[in-house]
Amino acid sequence: MAEALHTPIAYLKGIGPEKAALLKKELNVETYWDLLNHFPFRYIDRSKISTCRCIPETEGYIQLEGFIDTIQELGAGRAKRLQCRFSDDTGSIQLIWFQGWRWIKPNLLPGKKYRIFGRPKLNGAFWSIPHPEISPATEGTDVGFQPIYSSTEKLSAKGLHTRGLEKLIRSLIEKIDLNLLPDLLPEDLRSKNNFVRFAEALKNIHVPTNEQDHVQAKRRLVFEELFLLQLEMLLRKGLRKRSEQGYFFTKTGKNLSDLYHQKLPFDLTDAQKRVVREIHQDMKTGEPMNRLLQGDVGSGKTLVALITMLLAQGNGFQAALLAPTEILANQHFETIASLLKDLPVRAALLTGSVKRSARTPLLADLKNGSIDFLIGTHALLEDEVKFSQLGLVVIDEQHRFGVAQRAKMRHKSDLSPHVLVMTATPIPRTLAMTFYGDLDVSIIDELPPGRKPIQTIHRFESHRPQLYQFMREQIALGRQVYIVYPLIAESETLDFKSLEDGYHQISEAFPIPQFHVSMVHGKMRPEEKDREMQRFIEGTTHIMVATTVIEVGVNVPNASVMVIESAQRFGLSQLHQLRGRVGRGAEKSYCVLMTDYELSKESKKRMDTMVETNDGFKIAEVDLKLRGPGDLMGTQQSGALNLKVADLSKDQEMVIQAREEATLLYSEDPRLTSPKVLPLRNRMIEVFKNKPQWDKIG
Ligand code: ADP
Ligand code: MG
Repeated sequence: MAEALHTPIAYLKGIGPEKAALLKKELNVETYWDLLNHFPFRYIDRSKISTCRCIPETEGYIQLEGFIDTIQELGAGRAKRLQCRFSDDTGSIQLIWFQGWRWIKPNLLPGKKYRIFGRPKLNGAFWSIPHPEISPATEGTDVGFQPIYSSTEKLSAKGLHTRGLEKLIRSLIEKIDLNLLPDLLPEDLRSKNNFVRFAEALKNIHVPTNEQDHVQAKRRLVFEELFLLQLEMLLRKGLRKRSEQGYFFTKTGKNLSDLYHQKLPFDLTDAQKRVVREIHQDMKTGEPMNRLLQGDVGSGKTLVALITMLLAQGNGFQAALLAPTEILANQHFETIASLLKDLPVRAALLTGSVKRSARTPLLADLKNGSIDFLIGTHALLEDEVKFSQLGLVVIDEQHRFGVAQRAKMRHKSDLSPHVLVMTATPIPRTLAMTFYGDLDVSIIDELPPGRKPIQTIHRFESHRPQLYQFMREQIALGRQVYIVYPLIAESETLDFKSLEDGYHQISEAFPIPQFHVSMVHGKMRPEEKDREMQRFIEGTTHIMVATTVIEVGVNVPNASVMVIESAQRFGLSQLHQLRGRVGRGAEKSYCVLMTDYELSKESKKRMDTMVETNDGFKIAEVDLKLRGPGDLMGTQQSGALNLKVADLSKDQEMVIQAREEATLLYSEDPRLTSPKVLPLRNRMIEVFKNKPQWDKIG
């Protein structure tokens, strides 16, 4: 970076120490460079003047020229407002001011030509513009394409609203020579992809003269942002592979082949076979595996996990399987223990509820190596949990385990253990590239044969009697039913009430002794929750009324109906997760989405998507387009990327292009030593300096 850019912002004309401090506090802008990187979040094309007649076909802001015919004060007290009729040759609209109109009114002269600017709204049959910008038409020099910057109230009060910031940035751009800034993208990469130079992009993102300039600037900056991210991940991955020693798992082992050839009641799906091959390939290399296994609910990930664990065991190592909840840990343990029956492999379960008297011998057996597989919850992370030879860590549902926790598991092994992270939330390819670009990804894109697809239906309140009738029929057939209510943190009490009301309503419609209803929610104590859940798993209760606590991984094959109340309040990936709780047995299953009559366009699209498809990857694509990456990745995780210009829901093609170019560059010059990538190298050194504790095991 050119030296001058480190200059504190206070040195800029018009910015004293006070404003500088405020800029730091409000926008984290300290230096010239920071200010140049405060990009506009949108633009307004002020070069075009529209007409009143065109308003219905125009979206967003509009600029008009014309005359004010009538000026009226309407309403009284707080509702008092100023309303004017504004006309041009094509028609009239209303201009409305609710505030500040005492200042505006004296300056409005009938017969004078004005230029106004604002966002039209439809009031009944009339168009109006609330609080327009207004100036005499004659003065109106052509401002062209106008950038809009984000600001804050405190900054605005000091004149640093969007216009103030615009002026400031313009003066900075005139003052320094942008051409001195190093271009991170080498010349050949730029010309091949038709990217403008950095200096030009930076100038045109702030002061574009026309739309084309702005589009080109943005395209280049979006690419650069994504490209840097991809390169960083490739470097991290390379660094890890070079610097960390892993275990060689070359053998298959007798137990795995016995399981595979004699005990397994079915053949693996092609997708499972492919994934097992990919995993085995990793483990043979002596480099620690860091693999993300994506597969829709019910695609058979547990079996893949078990096979991977048996690979470790066959090579003389222990394996750990971490689950996010106690119920899931129990289920995994039971599934795995039953598959291992009659094989000389010992699996143990460790959760928070394992008593000291049982825990002590368990820990001793783990340490002396007589336990092969340890399955459990966060309890596995405790310092007292010591392995004899830990060679593999499998993590189910990665969202709930943080970086630090994964690092803790890594340190329970002499060398770096192999790591397999499994997730049942399919994410689109471009998101996987962006968030897990330093991991290898395997995908199970096929369900085991013979599954009956879940039939999804969208219904309204008026269908409730039919719904209850249908539930009774299913229960009479021996099936069980889930009813899920939304629970969202902001209005927890309200939601809790709707859950309780729901429970009462259901208990009345499904009375004992014929029917038994369970309820599970987040406010219950874990033991209580587990007990209720257990009653449902055993089939003692017919209906489970719950909040989304049942979302993750729970397996009750006999449950055939999932009713989701206020389904419009759930995100798509969450709906899909919930639906995945049924359709796990031999019976045909149903998912009923109950919503209000009135739905937003987006909610309607979500319901339609659910009705149309069972494919988690397709659903994730729609989700990304509708809601951005926050729903799929968690807001915290997507926020951590701190993207300034790129939008992961819109710039998916650019993600792929950035990945391709970064891979090419990395394969040609993995240490970034050629002179043309010197600026890039310097930038990466800076990035690595600022984020040194990168996650060693994925
Ligand atoms: P998930 O990917 O959601 O964790 P599971 O591992 O729980 O899926 O598998 C769901 C069900 O499918 C289990 O009952 C499992 O025994 C069964 N299953 C797994 N693989 C196969 C297969 N290849 N053929 C038939 N059934 C399978
Ligand atoms: Mg699972």
